[in-house]
Amino acid sequence: MSVKPLVAGNWKMNGLKASVAEFEAIAAGYDAALKAKAELAICPPFTLVATLAQKGLLPVGGQDCHAKVSGAHTGDTSAEMLKDAGATYVIVGHSERRTDHAETDAVVKAKTEAAWRAGLVAIVCVGETHAERTGGKTLDVVGTQVAGSLPDGTTAANTVIAYEPVWAIGTGLTPTAADVKEVHNFIRKELVKRFGADANGIRILYGGSVKPSNAAELMAVEDVNGALVGGASLKASDFLGIAAAY
Ligand code: PEP
Repeated sequence: MSVKPLVAGNWKMNGLKASVAEFEAIAAGYDAALKAKAELAICPPFTLVATLAQKGLLPVGGQDCHAKVSGAHTGDTSAEMLKDAGATYVIVGHSERRTDHAETDAVVKAKTEAAWRAGLVAIVCVGETHAERTGGKTLDVVGTQVAGSLPDGTTAANTVIAYEPVWAIGTGLTPTAADVKEVHNFIRKELVKRFGADANGIRILYGGSVKPSNAAELMAVEDVNGALVGGASLKASDFLGIAAAY
């Protein structure tokens, strides 16, 4: 099954009003040739979601959501609020959320359900730590996260998976293409086993120190259907360079 790649930028806790110009530069550089290769999306901090979405230039996403619709949850943002602000996507289960906010697979699953309830596409992140990789536990860990973080009813239309080895995020380190292939093939098999043939269309992004110089090699790997890009999504030329790798 051929799957149109998605290159999604995760701006993390970066971006002020001045960053709107970078978003516009990304959109301006997203020409017909790039459009034929990949879809793009930007997940800015919550403060910029509405501003960027209102531009109508590219799909925008949140970086997290609360599982509930509304209520006494100071500082949190619901999936419905993101949708109302114009978001299309929401990242859930990023390793920084799993670590900084002790989010478990059950929490990530509830957030994925919240994303669907609001009409958002969930970008569900999984990935092993360095100790888990060197301990030979990568597939066990990723398999457990995939099983626990995805609700029944996961489809190619409502969910994107992002495989992000924790040790590769923001470090400049990346797994070998063979290691990426092993994990992506494994995730694909697990998805098809549980969700049936439709799961061949679920996009599995690779994330972790993707940049223009390594994107072509990583994106050429079987079952890699795009990238989740942190640092390199903050600069239009880098982000567009990654999209051009297809
Ligand atoms: C991320 O945080 O999702 C990420 C992949 O970061 P970086 O590209 O900076 O490693």
